[in-house]
Amino acid sequence: MATIFSRIIQGEIPCYKIAEDERFFAFLDINPLAKGHTLVVPKKEVDYIFQLGDEELGQMMVFAKKVAQAIEKALPCKRIGVAVIGLEVPHAHIHLVPITTEGDLDFKKPHLKLTPEEFLAVQDKITKMF
Ligand code: 5GP
Repeated sequence: MATIFSRIIQGEIPCYKIAEDERFFAFLDINPLAKGHTLVVPKKEVDYIFQLGDEELGQMMVFAKKVAQAIEKALPCKRIGVAVIGLEVPHAHIHLVPITTEGDLDFKKPHLKLTPEEFLAVQDKITKMF
């Protein structure tokens, strides 16, 4: 059965898309730690990021870098924090989270509840920066 992320990539489930190329896809996390929290996923269904081949993993990081640079330009933050968790969705992904302090990357802290209008505004700000 297709993962929830494959269904998002295929357009079966809606998302706030940030960027896409032939191999990778980036979209806003629905349960964000901060405005601009984005997930980068390979289109190929692989459970765990370190199951990707060396070349594909490198390409994924280069794609994530472009997305991170756009987020950084679009939103106030000091850095883009990078995390790999993968305990909830068995489809490799990188979390990109705008941060100002270490604690901003704490996945145990309360997540934001954004309205569709807020998600759209964040999506618009980031996608304009490519
Ligand atoms: P992890 O697998 O890294 O522990 O967590 C998966 C992440 O995917 C979570 O941050 C969660 O909010 C996000 N997520 C799960 N389902 C969906 C979804 O249907 N849409 C979006 N945009 N994000 C999702």
